[in-house]
Amino acid sequence: NLVLFSTTMVVLLLSSIVLTQAQPRSWSAFQASKELATKLSRNPQTFPHASTDYGHIVHKTPVAIFNPSSVSDILALIHFSNSLPNPFPIAPRGKAHSVHGQAMTKDGVVLNMTNLNSSFQNGLGVLVSACDGKGPLICYADVGGGQMWIDVLHASLERGLTPLSLTDYMYATVGGTLSNAGMGGMSFRFGPQISNVLELDVITGKGDLVTCSKEQNSEAFYAALGGLGQFGVITRARIPLGPAPTRVKWLRLLYNNFTAFSRDQEHLISFSERNDIATADYVEGMLLLNQPPLDLLFYPASDHQREVAYLLKGLNFVHTFVFERDVSYEEFVNRVYPLEQMLRSEGLWEVPHPWLNLWVPRSRISDFDEGVFKDIVLKQNITGGSFLVYPTNRRNKWDDRMTPITPDEDVFYVVDFLRVAKTFDVVDKLQVQNKQILRFCNDAGIKITEYLIGNKTHQQWVEHFGPKWKLFADRKTEFDPKKILSPGHGIFQ
Ligand code: FAD
Repeated sequence: NLVLFSTTMVVLLLSSIVLTQAQPRSWSAFQASKELATKLSRNPQTFPHASTDYGHIVHKTPVAIFNPSSVSDILALIHFSNSLPNPFPIAPRGKAHSVHGQAMTKDGVVLNMTNLNSSFQNGLGVLVSACDGKGPLICYADVGGGQMWIDVLHASLERGLTPLSLTDYMYATVGGTLSNAGMGGMSFRFGPQISNVLELDVITGKGDLVTCSKEQNSEAFYAALGGLGQFGVITRARIPLGPAPTRVKWLRLLYNNFTAFSRDQEHLISFSERNDIATADYVEGMLLLNQPPLDLLFYPASDHQREVAYLLKGLNFVHTFVFERDVSYEEFVNRVYPLEQMLRSEGLWEVPHPWLNLWVPRSRISDFDEGVFKDIVLKQNITGGSFLVYPTNRRNKWDDRMTPITPDEDVFYVVDFLRVAKTFDVVDKLQVQNKQILRFCNDAGIKITEYLIGNKTHQQWVEHFGPKWKLFADRKTEFDPKKILSPGHGIFQ
């Protein structure tokens, strides 16, 4: 198999498919106050959108969609639900880039976080602070939970600043990625996005508006980070910023040997710890399974500048195939956007995505390569979509008080099967293969962690969290005792 080590996001090859929608349920039992009712929409045109997500596999029709125009509106909605003998579920929803129905609810209310406007008022929008010159210099942005990362980036770049940790895709919301982890090629240096938060405003499931940080109300802070929306609605996040580069040297190297590929990746992510002169800022990787190696082959190796040559020294890629570009920082971090536009224009974006996202302990990545990539995926020749594989540092970059669990090693691999299905029989095949992969890991004793999951049973969630389940359940009891928030995961429902 050819292995491409690259800093790029993936090319998703899709084709269109027609989806059927369930009809909205009656909401006669749902009697909101007059003020709330004006923001509760049952516009039939918006229901299909709120009943699906990027995965296009799970479909749930809510009773209504709530369009808040302020934080107080969200408080009022949560108080209203709590006041009823049978509280209704509330699903905070950012851009619905989940793939397993996480931001949906049946018989409840979808809370449309993106309705909060983009100018900074009432704790919404993006406000980049002047850098705080007292003590260590800290620049940060106060950002509404429904704001997209692209907006945070733009507001920061106006001051020559940038968030430190970004995911591959800039059109998810701040509340959405902070409810998961927010992984990307910068995580090895700065940690996931949840490790890059100074302060949060969270409205708990009980209806308390809590400002929290490591120092203040820390239990709510750590619970909300990666908290799958279970404990509270994130209405504001304070995101630290650093100086933004203006240009990016973007290198793609081709590998034909998995061991060399992963060894070099691990070497590159350890660079930053050693304070070497030439340091990669961003490291990702992509597998090309049974695919031609794209247009990369048309780019011969050019004369590298000194620091690039230093960075590449000792790496074992195929030296005849080096793809090098010099692009603006924004073009690099927003590189998926042109791809999205192209796929949208061809009707190839809104199709089923039976993704499988795993974190694999470093010590077992070669077993994973043999047992999964070679023995399952390649042999079955069902390779729809793209596969990202890259290591990240856990040590010193994660705080175990945050909600997510990770493999218990200093380094683990992010392995994303970004699957795309043109038809529902392909969805089935890919889902069967996803299950085989999980079974293989279980049988081989590879202690993987699933990421971006939803639509599991309560028991599967208990197993997912393992020893951390008690803490998770206790926090739920503390912050959302009536189990109102984010029912789409199926954790308590
Ligand atoms: P939604 O899907 O709307 O919501 C996700 C969950 O968060 C739900 O449970 C919801 O209830 C909850 N939630 C949403 N907003 C709030 C809030 N304000 N407060 C509390 N809970 C809330 N992830 C990565 O880590 N790295 C990547 O590189 C990456 N790339 C991606 C590329 C693409 C093309 C796509 C579609 C997804 C990618 N993802 C990646 C996954 C993405 O980060 C998550 O799915 C994220 O949740 C999407 O944000 P959203 O605003 O769409 O959230």
